[in-house]
Amino acid sequence: MVMRLKTRLLRGYILLAALTSVVAFIGLYFMRDIDHQMDALSQRATPAVTALNQIKSAAHEMCSSTYSLSLTASSIEPNANGERTLVERSDRIELARDDMNQWLAQYALVADPTLKKTFLTEAKAYEMRIAHLGKSIINDILKGSDQKRLLQHRAEFDENRDEFFSLINRSIAIEMRRVRTHEKAADERIAMALIAAIAMIIVVFVAATILSLQISSTLIRQLRHLRAGVDNLGPGNFSQVIIVPDAPELNTVAESINQLAVRMGNAEHANKMQYDQLHGEIGKRKQTEAQLLHEATHDALTGLANRVQLIQDIESCLERAHRNPDFKYALLFLDLDRFKVINDSLGHNVGDELLVESSQRLIDSVRGMDTVIRVHKETTARLGGDEFAILLDGIKNPGRAILIAERIQERLSKTFHLSGNDIVLSTSIGIAIGDSTYQTASDLIRDADTAMYRAKQAGGAQHAVFDDVMHAEVKLRLQLENDLRKAVEAHQFEVAYQPIVELSTGMVTAFEALIRWNHPERGKISPTEFIPIAEETGLIAPIGRWVLQESTRQLMAWRRELPDDRPLSMSVNVSPRQVGEANIVQEVRRTLKATGLDPRWLRLEITESMIMENAASIHEVLSGLKDIGVELHMDDFGTGYSSLSYLHKFPLDVLKIDREFVTNIGTDPEYAAVVKAIMTLAHSLRMKVTAEGIETPEQLALVRSLGCNYGQGYIFSRPLDPANAWKLLSNDEPLRQSA
Ligand code: C2E
Ligand code: MG
Ligand code: MG
Repeated sequence: MVMRLKTRLLRGYILLAALTSVVAFIGLYFMRDIDHQMDALSQRATPAVTALNQIKSAAHEMCSSTYSLSLTASSIEPNANGERTLVERSDRIELARDDMNQWLAQYALVADPTLKKTFLTEAKAYEMRIAHLGKSIINDILKGSDQKRLLQHRAEFDENRDEFFSLINRSIAIEMRRVRTHEKAADERIAMALIAAIAMIIVVFVAATILSLQISSTLIRQLRHLRAGVDNLGPGNFSQVIIVPDAPELNTVAESINQLAVRMGNAEHANKMQYDQLHGEIGKRKQTEAQLLHEATHDALTGLANRVQLIQDIESCLERAHRNPDFKYALLFLDLDRFKVINDSLGHNVGDELLVESSQRLIDSVRGMDTVIRVHKETTARLGGDEFAILLDGIKNPGRAILIAERIQERLSKTFHLSGNDIVLSTSIGIAIGDSTYQTASDLIRDADTAMYRAKQAGGAQHAVFDDVMHAEVKLRLQLENDLRKAVEAHQFEVAYQPIVELSTGMVTAFEALIRWNHPERGKISPTEFIPIAEETGLIAPIGRWVLQESTRQLMAWRRELPDDRPLSMSVNVSPRQVGEANIVQEVRRTLKATGLDPRWLRLEITESMIMENAASIHEVLSGLKDIGVELHMDDFGTGYSSLSYLHKFPLDVLKIDREFVTNIGTDPEYAAVVKAIMTLAHSLRMKVTAEGIETPEQLALVRSLGCNYGQGYIFSRPLDPANAWKLLSNDEPLRQSA
């Protein structure tokens, strides 16, 4: 396209140059012609004037000769004949006449024909007259004519001579005038030619300018048209076709642009489709993310916020309290009393309904509160199965938190109508008042939990505010936690062995390994105090591993001293956390391998609550342990609200009836009935039963009469150190009742 435009412009310039050249050529031609004419004129005029001048000088010569002849005639000497003569002088006159004739002839060649004729005739006549008169004068003088005639001839001579000269002068003037007229005409023609040339150049220049302006304006208009077309192209408008009228060169460009626009339109369409697809996917992903976020921060059953959300909200309260020490907040920790009983007796569905309804009542409680409290900012969160927490985000004083707790208790105490069941609940609430002294959310939750635990310990259906006493307890517990960490490394533990007796023979057939902690300052600390802490902190893993290794090593040592057929087993308590986290199956296998103990002499005691709360997941672990060949005993049976129908699903060997039943067996016939039922069930499932905590002969007699297989309790022996345990064992006699 650019090439074509260039060609057009070039064409215009060539045309312009050609026109200018033609004009210049014409101008030059005219100038040259005038020049030639001038040359010719001067060539013709100059000889005429020259000839006239020469005629004039020849005439002067002739006249002066005549005069000088006439003047000198008087002194002329007579020749041989006696005649006076002046021959040489007349030759000069003739000579001057010849010259004059010659010039006249030349003049005749170049002069104007009309003028020439007149002039030549007149000049000839004058010349002849002058010559004749000159000769007459000389003759007059020579012949001595009278003075009068001489003077007349002389006057005629002078007159003719003067007329002749004036004729020549006139002719010269005429010729000169004619030359000047020619020159003037030539000048005018040159000026005309110049004006014409300049005018032509101007015309050509103007024409060329108009032409180029016209070309460029057309070009600009077409380019603008093209540009407007290109400007119109854009997102959503690539289908427009650009056509530039009367511009084939630009139309090739427009065509390329149109093709490009078609391609861009296609790409745009494809992009839009991709964008829509992507947008859809992003939308879906955002939805999923929002859902995941909601699930991550909310409880699936009740839709309430969960622990993650609660911690975030508490942390924002902590921040505010740190910025403003006057800012107070509170965490209410709720537990539905005896929820587990309802759940177990009426089923999980009813239990779930109860939780949903309770959470609704909680939400309603905080919404209906005093406006001084920032109800809308409060967070209700379900923490565990039957636990709730309410964060009061900003309270004026602790009394407000108590008031809210009371209202909640009142609302939750109203009868629930669920799936045809009327349920009445009570609630235990722990309250922790938050201030700037708290550093972490878990501290606040721990304190509210402690207070709630205290409310529960006090019989439930009440609230307790976390106070200084509890704070001291918590501090003590924290101290214990730290000490426990060190105790593992400092080997402050030992194992006590309590004999388990076969009731039919009275022989010791096993020992239960019970851990003891020799605290450097506090002396012996009961496992009931530190095992829960060890479980919470995860320290139970190394502690439990040590007990297992130590007790199996001890049993192996004793067994080496005893006859091979002497039955003697070791019962080792396994904590829920050990079963849940550590690979207990591998650990037991490794320990047995290390000590060389036959698996059948090892019994693992797992609490009933542990088994029942993790019924689904524990089955695999129990089967794994059973495959090793160890015995599995269900500890503290009767406290975990076992669904008795589930029992047969677990590979258990022995049920260990909890001490609470044995203690009450003699005094409360209901307990005796329960123990009896347990015995019947266990035996029907081919399980054996151990009664623990037998202290009195009556209790022993009762459990024996009910068919218990084994017994354990102070009546036989307290837990013993290894030496005393060995002493007792080495007697190899039925154990005497110590009580
Ligand atoms: P447990 O497994 O039910 O152990 C029986 C508890 O009852 C022992 O308390 C024992 O000393 C006590 N006991 C036995 N006979 C009588 C009796 O006639 N009267 C009374 N009042 N008590 C009796 P201990 O040793 O304080 O252990 C308490 C609990 O600590 C154990 O209950 C067990 O759950 C846990 N525990 C002890 N050692 C370990 C251990 O090595 N690992 C784990 N995970 N838990 C352990
Ligand atoms: Mg036990
Ligand atoms: Mg027990």
